[in-house]
Amino acid sequence: MLDQYGRSIEYLRISVTDRCNFRCVYCMPEHGLAWLPKADILSYEEIAEVARQLAPLGLKRLRITGGEPTIRPELSRLIRQLKAIPGIEDIALSTNGVKLVEMAPALREAGLDRVNLSADSLRPERIAAIARRSMPFSPVLSASAAQAAGLSPVKINVVVMRGINDDEIEDFARLTIEHPFHVRFIELMPVGEMADLTWEHVIPSEEVLRRVSALGTLSAADGPARGNGPATYYRLAGAAGSIGVITPMSHTYCGTCNRVRLTADGRLRTCLFGDHEVNLREPLRAGTALAPLFAQALAEKPKEHHLLQMQVGGLKALSQTGG
Ligand code: SAM
Ligand code: SF4
Repeated sequence: MLDQYGRSIEYLRISVTDRCNFRCVYCMPEHGLAWLPKADILSYEEIAEVARQLAPLGLKRLRITGGEPTIRPELSRLIRQLKAIPGIEDIALSTNGVKLVEMAPALREAGLDRVNLSADSLRPERIAAIARRSMPFSPVLSASAAQAAGLSPVKINVVVMRGINDDEIEDFARLTIEHPFHVRFIELMPVGEMADLTWEHVIPSEEVLRRVSALGTLSAADGPARGNGPATYYRLAGAAGSIGVITPMSHTYCGTCNRVRLTADGRLRTCLFGDHEVNLREPLRAGTALAPLFAQALAEKPKEHHLLQMQVGGLKALSQTGG
C-alpha cells in the first residue's frame, strides 16, 4: 500500500470511542464534546471487518485509541477479533491508564501486544488538575501492571507544558533508570479548544533533552524493538529504559508517515490534521468492498500537515481522531 508520495502505509490507528473519563486540558473542553450517537459508532465486528479487508493490502500494525478506549465495554472482545486476522503482527493500546491495573491481564490474554500510557504528572493533585477529573490511580502502578502482564515495551507519553508540568521532566526521566519503561516527551500541539494553553506553553524537545542530560550521560539509543513511530530515543547511562522525544511542533515527520486513522464513526482519515477523510461506514454496512475507497484515500493523503500555520481543518480535539 503506497500513497501518492510513495509512503508505505501499514499502520492503522483505530478510535473505538470519542468519550473519555478525563478532560485533559490540551485535549477536550471541560464539559466534553457533543458525543457521537451510538448508532453511528462502528461495532467491534465492523471495526474488525475494516482491518480484515485492509490486511491483504499490507496493513500490519494496529493501535486502539479513543477518547479513552478502556471505557468501551468488552474491549478484549475486539482485541481477540483483530488478533485472529492473518497479517496483523502487532496490536497496541493508547490509554490514560486509569483502568489498566484491572484490565491488563485480560487484554494480554485476548492478544494485545503492548501499551502506551499517557501520563503528564506523577503527582495525584496535578494529575487531577490536568485531567480535570479525580481518579484513584497511579501511572507508575499502571505501567508496572502492564509490564507484569507482558504488555511490553511499555511507553509512557508525557505532553510537556511550560509552567504546568515541566518541573517533572527530571522525575519522568529518572523513572527509566529503574524501570524498563520508554518515557517519551511530546511537544504540546496547540489545537482545538485548549482552555488557556497557548504557544507559550510549548517546550521544544531540545530544551527537554538539555534538562534531562543534567541527570547523567545521555546517549543516542535504539528505540524499543516494537513500534517504530516518530520518536527519537536516548538512554541515561546504566538505565533500564529509554527516553524519547516526539516533535510535532519543532520538526515535522510527515515525509515518513506510515499511518492512517479510523474514527469511531467509521471515517478513514489520512492525516491527523486537515479534513482529508473517506467515509467507510455506509459502504461497510452496505457490504461494499473497501479496497477501492482505501486506494482513493491514499491517493489523497496530504504530503504534510500545516499545523505550524495553524491550519488544522475542523478538528476540535485530538480525542475526536485518537491522537
Ligand atoms: N485517551 C487515550 C490517551 O490519553 O492515551 C488515547 C487518546 S489521546 C487523544 C492520544 C494521545 O494524544 C495522548 O497521549 C494525549 O496526550 C495526546 N494529545 C491529545 N491532545 C494533545 C495535544 N493538544 N498536544 C499533544 N498531544 C496531545
Ligand atoms: Fe481523554 Fe486521552 Fe484526551 Fe486525556 S488525552 S482527554 S485521556 S482522550
